[in-house]
Amino acid sequence: MISVRDLHKRFGPTTVLDGIDLDIGHGERVVVIGPSGTGKSTLLRCLNFLDTPDAGRITMGDVTVDAAHATRAEILALRRRTAFVFQNYALFANRTAKENIMEALVTVQGRPKEEAERRALAVLAETGLSDKADSYPASLSGGQQQRVGIGRAMAIGAELILFDEPTSSLDPEWVGEVLDLMRSVAEQKQTMLIVTHEMQFAREIADRIIFMQGGRIVEQGPPEQIFDAPRDERLRRFLRRVT
Ligand code: ADP
Ligand code: MG
Repeated sequence: MISVRDLHKRFGPTTVLDGIDLDIGHGERVVVIGPSGTGKSTLLRCLNFLDTPDAGRITMGDVTVDAAHATRAEILALRRRTAFVFQNYALFANRTAKENIMEALVTVQGRPKEEAERRALAVLAETGLSDKADSYPASLSGGQQQRVGIGRAMAIGAELILFDEPTSSLDPEWVGEVLDLMRSVAEQKQTMLIVTHEMQFAREIADRIIFMQGGRIVEQGPPEQIFDAPRDERLRRFLRRVT
């Protein structure tokens, strides 16, 4: 489904991704954990060129992009196959919930407005927000805003949805409803790559956990291995801190 080889990224003198290899299968749910500042967001952002990787290769389906010589067309092809859920929701403040979901369907996918609207309303129903279709983000709770953010990602039918700490900005009272929505996305066999600090949720939803530190994948495996029998001392130290 997606295959990443030897991905590198620096910001000035700082190496943030130091040779990442990653394969994700169709319908697989992969959770990335690790200390802050370790390159988790940068990894997700490099996968669809929100950040431009310096070197490495990304393959999705029939699209292979060599980071060092990526063309505009290749980057767009990659972006069309992915959707991103941001920590801070990143909704358009001057658009309603429905319009936020319609936006990419119309401008990126070129669908007719009526069709985009039907799709947006269907997704709002799935996210439990039908009665908020015409509400602006400022009048929604954090949990509702993030559910719109996830609905937007669901609507475009992306092969891979990237979630970057989707509950980290939320007041605790809204975390549960966002995790519930992610569970229901997972039930649809959606391929998901999730950065989260919600360890209980990670254990429950993940087919595989990846532990990153210092821009590298230090250890990966099924949740039972990572949480119950961690091998690397850095992972053990991390788990002692967060659990
Ligand atoms: P994580 O998501 O694991 O907390 P990030 O990927 O956000 O880590 O950041 C990894 C490192 O890269 C940090 O040291 C951060 O300061 C740096 N970094 C991230 N984005 C930028 C940027 N746009 N410009 C400069 N440095 C950045
Ligand atoms: Mg981050």
